[in-house]
Formats: sequence, C-alpha cells, structure tokens
Amino acid sequence: MKKIPFASKEKLEEIAKQYPTPFHIYDEAGIRKNAENMKQAFSWNKGFKEYFAVKATPNPFLIEILKEYGFGCDCSSKTELMLSKAIGVTGQNIMFSSNDTPKEEFQYANELGATINLDDITHIEVLEEALGKLPKRLSCRYNPGGVFEVCNGIMDNPGDAKYGMTTDQLFEAYRIMKEKGVEEFGMHAFLASNTVTNEYYPMLARLLFETAVKIKEEVGVKLSFINLSGGVGIPYTPDKEPNDILEIGRRVHEVYDEVLVPAGMGDVAIYTELGRFMMGPYGALVTRAINEKHTHKEYVGVDACAVNLMRPAMYGAYHHITVMGKENAPCDHVYDITGSLCENNDKFAIDRALPEIQKGDLLYIHDTGAHGFSMGYNYNGKLKSAEILLHPDGTFSLIRRAETPKDYFATFDCFDFYKNVLED
Ligand SMILES: *Cc1c(COP(=O)(O)O)cnc(C)c1O
Repeated sequence: MKKIPFASKEKLEEIAKQYPTPFHIYDEAGIRKNAENMKQAFSWNKGFKEYFAVKATPNPFLIEILKEYGFGCDCSSKTELMLSKAIGVTGQNIMFSSNDTPKEEFQYANELGATINLDDITHIEVLEEALGKLPKRLSCRYNPGGVFEVCNGIMDNPGDAKYGMTTDQLFEAYRIMKEKGVEEFGMHAFLASNTVTNEYYPMLARLLFETAVKIKEEVGVKLSFINLSGGVGIPYTPDKEPNDILEIGRRVHEVYDEVLVPAGMGDVAIYTELGRFMMGPYGALVTRAINEKHTHKEYVGVDACAVNLMRPAMYGAYHHITVMGKENAPCDHVYDITGSLCENNDKFAIDRALPEIQKGDLLYIHDTGAHGFSMGYNYNGKLKSAEILLHPDGTFSLIRRAETPKDYFATFDCFDFYKNVLED
C-alpha cells in the first residue's frame, strides 16, 4: 500500500514556523477512526476492553482520546501508573503487566485498584509479602515456550523470552491463588510481536481458550478474563497490507464460540493491550535536511537523530520516508539519511532510493506513533523533541514541549556549577 503522509507540506511548514523541527506529529482523526474500529471489532464480547500499552506512546493527551472509547491503560512501571492516575484512569481500567517488579510498584498498583498480571509463579509470594494478602482479582502471564509460528514465516520465539510462566507453573499458580482466596482470575500471553497478519490473535486465542478450558477442568478455576495482549502489528514497509481488525475480531469470535461457549465459559471477557496498532501509523517524525555529504556514499544529514526515533538504530527497523513536496518525483537518488549522534548506526535509512533531496527539504518519517518518541534518550546531549497533535479540522496543539538545556541539567538542580551557562 502506498504510504501517504496524513499532513500536507504546507501544513507541516505552517507548524514548523511555530514549533521548529524536529517534532513528532499525531493524527487525531486517524487515531479516532482506528479506535472506533477496534471497539467495533470486539463489540460482540460484553466485557471487552482494550488497555492501551502506555509505554508505546506515553502522552496523556493521546491516551485521553482513547479513554473516550472506554479504553484503559496497560502499565508496567510506577511512573506509567502515575500517568494513568493523573488522567483519571484507575481501578480496573488499569492492567499492570509488569515484569521483574519491585515490591513498591505492586503496592502502588494495588492502591490504584489495578488488575495485577503476575509474570511469574514466585511473584505470588512477593505480592503476598508486599500487600499482606493477595488481591481478590489476579491474572497470570503464560509462556508456553517453543516457537510460536503464526503463518508463512511469521513467528516469534517465546522459548527465548524472559516473560511468563510455563504450562505447569501456570496451572500450579491458579491452584495456589485459589487456595489463598483469590476470587477472580485472568490469563495473559504475548507470544509474537508486530505480526502483520490477521492470523495471530485467532491462533493465540485458540491456544489460550483451550488452556482456559483445561484450567477449569483440572484446577476448578474459571477465568473471568483472557488478555490477548499486544502484538497486532502495522506494515512499516509499503509492500505489506495492514491488518484488518474487524476481520481479526470476527475470527476471535468464531474461536470463542467454538471453544469457550460449549465449555460453559461464554461470559469470559476479552482484553487486549495493543500499543503499536493503536498509535503507530498515526504518528510521524518531521525533520529537515540540514546537511549533505558526498564521500564513499551519499549522505543527507537531518536535524533529528536516533534519540527522536531509536528503532532503526536499535533493530535495523525500516521506517518509510516521504520527501515533502516531492511525492511524485522519481526515486532516482540513493542516500543514507543520518542524524548527528557520534554513532554510525544513527541512520534513519541506509541505501534508500529517494527523490533528490535539497537542504531545507522536510522529511516525513512514517509510523513513529508508537515506540517512537517514547524510546527517546539524551545521548550526546541531544534533547527530546516536541509532540504536536493535528486535529481533524486542521488546527494543531502542542501536547508536549521540546526539551531545553534546562531539562538536560535538571537532575543536577541540587548543584550550582551549570547555572551560569543557562543564563542566555
Ligand atoms: C509492549 C507491550 C504491549 C504492547 O505491544 P505492541 O506491540 O505495541 O502492541 C502489550 N503488553 C505488554 C505486556 C507489553 O510489554
């Protein structure tokens, strides 16, 4: 599918006058339409809830949009819990799917009334120590091990993943929890990441639903919710078709009717914890070409770098790039698009065929709405960018200002040594 920016060159230049590049921009109309579809896809399930994975895009203004659709927050740290609380997402609207969790974080999650999703059987004891007794409602994260093959080469490797309990541990965990007075049970599994296929959720659902039936038969624990977690992906490359969430919802419904309903489990709520799918395509990193360089390769230097978007440097991930205003020009130049970090992997694209780029051109880096800004850091003294929300009527709002040197020095605020350099 041809990748088309959600904002025009004129609009981006207008925004850049007020908020200099680089910045992340988000498309409110796109977020809303997708949230609507998500809700509709699982409307057959009475208890359905999407818990947005806060780590993907921890901006309260964006999460508040999702909140309007009845979605909650999936958190994995204290500050993510605090962010959720700050925008009024509390109680059972929070799923706390953490791992390697400090006791204090269990305590804080419990104070907010969050549903705690235990990553390991040994954490039952940790949780008991932390809270005095187990909460009435508790979930377990399952990791069946091995390789989870979805279809034609799309697979992931749960056997190598640090998350979740083995099958035996899972059954044992429910036994122990029941004995200790837990009344409401859930199960969670995240077995493949960024799956661009409609097969993943239905396959995962079958595995989890069949396991849930066994748990009922063998342990006498009837689950009240099953959490399909994250992993429904987005097509970063133009050759892939996006997932059809309505089709995915229908297929999960079929498996539900086939496996759970006959087992007397037709009231189990389905939860999801999507991050990438909810936000990824509705964000872009906008950056300007500021330098060129002709050595052993052709380089274009931009004013963003890996601190604004780490995925290419970290995973070699592909992000499509549109040179604004040159959408229809032939891609007859081959460039490395680089940032300014003193790291050779600070490249948004390598050997990418693009239209000829002039200094001053705006580059639109697609699909940065999830795991984009949020993975930012401050290496080389680089500062994180602003985030802008583009509204459906074409107006725009600043939803996070860019960092300033003052922010960079903020953790030295109990010292004086730097204060003179901030004066100008
Ligand atoms: C990261 C994460 C998610 C979201 O994953 P996406 O690939 O963004 O959908 C959901 N649940 C847990 C526990 C996670 O760690």
